[in-house]
Amino acid sequence: MSPPRPAAAIRVGVAGAAGRMGSTVCAAVEAAPDLELVAAVDPAGAGRPVAGRPDLTVAGDLDALAAAGATVVVDFTVAEAARPNLPWYAAQGLHAVVGTTGLADDDLVALRRHYPDDGELGCVVAPNFAIGAVLMMRFAELAAPWFDTAEIVELHHDAKADAPSGTALLTSRRMAEASGEWAPDPTRAEVVPGSRGGAGPSGIRIHSVRLRGLVAHQEVLLGTTGQSLTIRHDSYDRSSFMPGVLLAVRAVPARPGLTLGLDTLLGV
Ligand code: NAD
Repeated sequence: MSPPRPAAAIRVGVAGAAGRMGSTVCAAVEAAPDLELVAAVDPAGAGRPVAGRPDLTVAGDLDALAAAGATVVVDFTVAEAARPNLPWYAAQGLHAVVGTTGLADDDLVALRRHYPDDGELGCVVAPNFAIGAVLMMRFAELAAPWFDTAEIVELHHDAKADAPSGTALLTSRRMAEASGEWAPDPTRAEVVPGSRGGAGPSGIRIHSVRLRGLVAHQEVLLGTTGQSLTIRHDSYDRSSFMPGVLLAVRAVPARPGLTLGLDTLLGV
């Protein structure tokens, strides 16, 4: 059984509760004294008990969120499921915290209609809930105008199918927007093709390392005359995302409309 909760505990439901992230979110919510896990939904895990909560089973249908009186839903599913689920959450009067990746710009435009700024419901969508990774991107953006050259090295586990990582691409975009003045690449001969990595926005090079044993890591290297700056972030396991998820769960009821990324919640 879960420990006693304060009367004002936020009632949280989790969609994708049987997945890797969703089950970690269930455990993190369960461990937070100011939050109450009231529903867990996942068609793939329907009927299974929620770990550490013998009184709660995973439901196969979203109706369980409304039936349990959830006020905030956390969605870690797949984009194909989140796309129809998000308007349904809004129609049910649920605030939403969305970690599911693969939502396109069009999806976000549609989402603004369901979570308008002048409404009462809030929705936080963040492609990366690791607070350290959010800060890494912000620090890289701040440093960019003060350096002439920059390269990004992202390092991930050996099961990652896409390259570069979305975080590396977003970092390079933000650095390119912060500064358009980068020194040209001096390379004239690339003896092994690809050894200079891929050219991202403004020519910032991105190198993708895939190595068994790693989880998710990134280094941003910036150089100028006589000095360099390295900003590095490491995610060692899924628990790295939980402080960011819980921050968003606590903040979203007081933030009407759509909030993209954790930056504003962190005040950076
Ligand atoms: P996973 O495959 O382990 O889990 C996804 C779960 O969603 C599955 O159990 C599946 O059955 C369930 N699901 C599918 N359709 C559903 C529906 N209609 N309703 C409820 N549940 C449904 O995947 P994962 O590793 O947990 O990742 C989930 C998502 O989170 C992915 O999009 C991933 O890219 C993203 N992710 C985001 C962050 C972040 O910081 N934002 C971090 C890690 C992963």
